[in-house]
Amino acid sequence: MSLSNGRAYLAIPGPSVMPDTVLQAMHRASPNIYEGELHELTHSLMPDLKKVAMTEHQVAIYIGNGHAAWEAALANVLSPGDHVLVLATGRFGIGWGEIAAGLQAELQTVDFGNEMAIDPARVEEALKADKDHRIKAVMAVHVDTSTSVKSDIAAVRAAMDRAEHPALLMADCIASLGCDRFEMDNWGVDVMVSGCQKGLMTPAGVSFVWFNKKADAAQGTCVTRYWDWRPRANPEVYYQHFAGTAPTHHLYGLRAALDILLEEGLEAVFARHETLARAIWSAFDCWSEEGPLKLNVADPAFRSHAVTAAVIGSPNGDRLRHWCEHHCGLTLGIGLGRSPEDAYFRIGHMGHVNAHMIMGVLGTIQAGLSALDIPHGRGALEAAADVIAQS
Ligand SMILES: *Cc1c(COP(=O)(O)O)cnc(C)c1O
Repeated sequence: MSLSNGRAYLAIPGPSVMPDTVLQAMHRASPNIYEGELHELTHSLMPDLKKVAMTEHQVAIYIGNGHAAWEAALANVLSPGDHVLVLATGRFGIGWGEIAAGLQAELQTVDFGNEMAIDPARVEEALKADKDHRIKAVMAVHVDTSTSVKSDIAAVRAAMDRAEHPALLMADCIASLGCDRFEMDNWGVDVMVSGCQKGLMTPAGVSFVWFNKKADAAQGTCVTRYWDWRPRANPEVYYQHFAGTAPTHHLYGLRAALDILLEEGLEAVFARHETLARAIWSAFDCWSEEGPLKLNVADPAFRSHAVTAAVIGSPNGDRLRHWCEHHCGLTLGIGLGRSPEDAYFRIGHMGHVNAHMIMGVLGTIQAGLSALDIPHGRGALEAAADVIAQS
């Protein structure tokens, strides 16, 4: 017997659950790309994308995944040989650095490991040591999806200011945007990148780079015509938005997703993600009282509200994921970038998630721990339900 018939549930950190209204908005014939509705719709996206990032500056849209936005952001500001300071809190920080290296940047990496957030004091130290101000950009991942570590980006800016260093602050909010609070302008971020398939609840394939005047003025020589953010942000003619054919259906989907986000209101969205994250953590607190299970990030202040990484010990990670998938129809995230890989797993709880979805994920994990005889503490589901009840 299998208990996995019925609607399957993907609890991985991107792509995330797509709202039915997003899917329905995309289910249509190809629109006229020369004039009319699609143009109006595209124009309407720009101010709303800025709202979500909490910025009054510019945004460029790219047809590509998060890696495309990574490269676009760096290509626009760097010239070959420029130095960058990479602040790594997991696989994604390292990966963004690799993109910079591919553009012939000189990397200076401060690696905070896989369980700790960026330490602003070490950023300040690294920048003060750069007396000639060779570092052009500081690259920080807000939420590293591989570890679920969330860093304090405003504190990174404060450290840069204390060091009186003129570098640009670049943030990767691909996992966090629309889930964990992020305030581009208030926090002094010059360039921010995100994608559409996580907190923005749209099928993978479109990504974004937000940039302010300082970043635009710093444009280097790595940029090519296709990646240039200027015509995309301020096109003279429509096709320049996308340097070619518009990603028609993604735009309809994104419009529907932004409507959902902004109707709920960003503050309510942040509060929902925080409460659901606390429900997950409280379940893990109980499970980890006995046996191998443990949250990856010890300090709740540095845990993401969009994704949770947990240690479970080899080979239990793989066993649990397979059991949940094949017996119950729940897909959990793999332990990305960790070794041995199956000692970790991740829960994605970004975007279109509510309390019953989270309780379903936790209940399924609970059943899996019991079915597989993985030792664990008791009371997890009750603890999670209490968090939801008390909200
Ligand atoms: C998902 C993700 C990426 C990569 O995005 P892709 O769309 O898979 O290219 C980069 N950074 C972070 C923090 C992410 O969560």
